[in-house]
Amino acid sequence: MKVLIVGNWKCNPTSQKKAEHLFNLLKKSLKNIKKTEVVICPPFPYLPIIAKNSSIIKLGAQNCFFAREGPFTGEISPLMLKNLGVKYVILGHSERRKILRETDEMINKKLLAVLEEKLFPILCVGETKEERKRGETFKVLEKQIKNSFKKISKSKIQLSKLSIAYEPVWAIGTGNPCLPDEALIAVLFIRKILSKIFSKKIANQIHILYGGSVNSKNARDYLQESQINGLLVGGASLDPKEFTQIAKITESA
Ligand code: PEP
Repeated sequence: MKVLIVGNWKCNPTSQKKAEHLFNLLKKSLKNIKKTEVVICPPFPYLPIIAKNSSIIKLGAQNCFFAREGPFTGEISPLMLKNLGVKYVILGHSERRKILRETDEMINKKLLAVLEEKLFPILCVGETKEERKRGETFKVLEKQIKNSFKKISKSKIQLSKLSIAYEPVWAIGTGNPCLPDEALIAVLFIRKILSKIFSKKIANQIHILYGGSVNSKNARDYLQESQINGLLVGGASLDPKEFTQIAKITESA
């Protein structure tokens, strides 16, 4: 299984010119990667220009809607993304759950739609600080995962390249990452839930990533755990040197 390093640019940068510049730097610095699958998820308006700029880096979106087309003002469908050359789609990011009130039910519909188009979902799950303090981490993860996979068959999952990102909400953008040992415990629990829903074999084929204040100094601590199959990187993905270093850690191992 190739290690997956995903850069989530969130709502950055502020112009196409800056986005192209950032992407071109990454394209150059990562041109020789072999053992690592690198995915960049820019904001929607920059997807076409980056898609035209072919490179070893795969293209991802930060979200999508659950219908193919129709009267859904302001939404972007998985089919539109597919037609642009997008391969991966982040779903259920905690910023969308919190700020845009995305529910597990909506995320489940989006997951179904993304799988239907044979795109690769990266489903984000994770507990808030309060939930962790109350000792509810496992309960929250189990609920998010079970609800997200409702009505999704084993065969759909087998045909797809699915990833789950364990992103404790309190670790995102805070500079306060989850300790690698604790991330590993959560990742093992996620795999256990996936084995129960699907099968052990399927669960072992799913990439489980860690995300939350990853940088070039701590990335290795997560990647040396064989059960952690990659990283979802937010802030540090906007710094080409940082992101390149993170993406190259697996290459040098
Ligand atoms: C993210 O946006 O998914 C994320 C993990 O952000 P950061 O790396 O900035 O914590």
